[in-house]
Amino acid sequence: MPSTPTKTIDHEALRVKYRAERDKRLREDGNEQYIEPTGRFAHFLDDPYVERVEREPLRDEVTVAIIGGGFAGLVTGARLKEAGVEDVRIIEGGGDVGGAWYWNRYPGAMCDTAAMIYLPLLEETGHMPSMKYTKAPEIYGQAKRIATTFGLYDNALFSTEVTNLEWEATSSRWVIHTNRGDEIRARFVTMGTGPLHRPKLPGIPGIETFAGHSFHTSRWDYDYTGGSYEGDPLVNLADKKVGIIGTGATGIQCIPQLAKDSQELYVFQRTPSSIDVRNNVPIDPDEFAALGEGWQQKWLTNFATLQTGGFADEDLVKDGWTDIAKRIRDKIMAKMGEPGLVFSADTIQEAFGESDDEKMEEIRARVDTIVKDPATAEALKPWYRQLCKRPCFHDEYLQAYNEPSAHLVDTDGKGVERIDETGVWVNGVHYELDCLIFASGFEVGTDYARRSGFETIGRDGITLSKRWDDGMQSLHGIHVHGFPNMFVVGLSQGANLISNITHNHVESGRTIATMIAHALEVGADEIECTDEAEQKWMAALDNNMGAFLGNLDCTPGYYNNEGKPMGKREKLNSAGYPGGPVAYFTYIDGWRNAGDFKGVEFRANGAVVSGG
Ligand code: NDP
Repeated sequence: MPSTPTKTIDHEALRVKYRAERDKRLREDGNEQYIEPTGRFAHFLDDPYVERVEREPLRDEVTVAIIGGGFAGLVTGARLKEAGVEDVRIIEGGGDVGGAWYWNRYPGAMCDTAAMIYLPLLEETGHMPSMKYTKAPEIYGQAKRIATTFGLYDNALFSTEVTNLEWEATSSRWVIHTNRGDEIRARFVTMGTGPLHRPKLPGIPGIETFAGHSFHTSRWDYDYTGGSYEGDPLVNLADKKVGIIGTGATGIQCIPQLAKDSQELYVFQRTPSSIDVRNNVPIDPDEFAALGEGWQQKWLTNFATLQTGGFADEDLVKDGWTDIAKRIRDKIMAKMGEPGLVFSADTIQEAFGESDDEKMEEIRARVDTIVKDPATAEALKPWYRQLCKRPCFHDEYLQAYNEPSAHLVDTDGKGVERIDETGVWVNGVHYELDCLIFASGFEVGTDYARRSGFETIGRDGITLSKRWDDGMQSLHGIHVHGFPNMFVVGLSQGANLISNITHNHVESGRTIATMIAHALEVGADEIECTDEAEQKWMAALDNNMGAFLGNLDCTPGYYNNEGKPMGKREKLNSAGYPGGPVAYFTYIDGWRNAGDFKGVEFRANGAVVSGG
């Protein structure tokens, strides 16, 4: 798409418009507006994909318990097996591995990050992605392939939720309780419980009264809709009036199929997503075969470098993410050439603002070229900076509104007014529905126990929720002082590369496997970071908690604490390594290979035998 000349854009007018759109949406209740699917909403969590098979409770011990069988757990398990640690057990609430890709089987589900870098361990598993952006079944397939390749199905427990995790100091073991009555002891525990683990529902008045059929997108009910997530039409919706609440990354992917197959589709929109072009293409087998050994690591580093504003000779991935970053970077470079310009943080902000305005003007103009009805087109235009919300890339979403059955019900930022037995009310108008689908997202900003679904009790009875009451505290985003032999596999306080989640996991998995293998080698029964090392790491992160997006008059969403000012807790929870993701990856690679494991003690019978 050609870039819009800067001169034609009134940047100040855009700032005013963006602020007005944000102000319309700010709510006192922030994260509290959402309802947890518990109590009378608990059925929203039921697994529609497998029958629960009863089994006897287990009482045994494993070397490593991997909590969560998504990509975080799988790549950690794979690295452990590579390091010679055989006795590992995945414990997973779903009926199989896959995590988010086990649960999210809504029609049209796919990944917005290019498969060549998003799908982990492609070289190790010998899989060639079929397309630049792969659909959910292929992603789920890769999760299963990793489990098979590395023997991670052996000993795994599925449809099993951890209810409590407690450190037993006398034996230096974690004791894991589950909803199946298991009591499993583990020498080491890795936590891959994901930031997008638990679905949430909108706290719309009357939501509990709806008498039609209803489900969350992460538990798609194909028995009701017909069709399949392999793409078969949702034939049972041909005589149904369907409503969907939510137009985030999930909503925009399932709406095209719903628009084709429903008798009538009502999309209740609070804030439109930004929809850039996707341009999906098949992967060329000849080009793929020509990639040399170690290609995936090279691609990962190349993407992370370009996406975070760095320089590289070529753009291997060439997607919307690297495009955003390159535009900002080029703008800064151009500004640096301006005579008399004093380079400062303001220059960066200005460059960011200008390139963002250009991009968003393109995205808004694209809506007009696709959507035939002018009022609908106007309502679908996003008025905020692109990174205020998860950027979306799609070549069928906007087109869906040209289907005669598809109706956009724009709530002008106010959200759905109320729900009753027969449908949904917006602006005083009632929309009668047979089925109401919630594409309302996942718990992100709430406390750790609420998000993970269980409590973790460390040394001296301290819970992780209490320890992190004022925000996450860690060394490297992996270790927590007071929680020996426990490893977090996530993004925060580490690389924090949000554009390619699995890259974070691949690196953390490698680090954790190195440490556990080392502990077994030196006969250590405990691995724990020192208080001092944790504090030093936290002090270093303190310089990188600028709450950048919080300063940009963003429309509310989970990227910005639902528009609430970022307090210490939120800043800590979203902090990343000060030098950025690539610097973190370089740092952590050096740290784990140095062999002295500075800041982490390996203890045997209370004495430090390595690290420290
Ligand atoms: P989101 O949290 O991004 O979206 C929730 C949606 O529900 C928003 O559109 C929100 O509106 C809307 N909503 C909430 N309450 C109301 C209400 N009362 N009335 C009307 N609308 C309401 O969830 P998603 O499941 O879409 O996405 C979650 C994340 O999952 C993504 O950001 C992404 O990280 C990941 N994902 C990635 C995909 C990919 O790679 N392709 C695909 C799908 C998901 P508002 O915006 O106004 O808050």
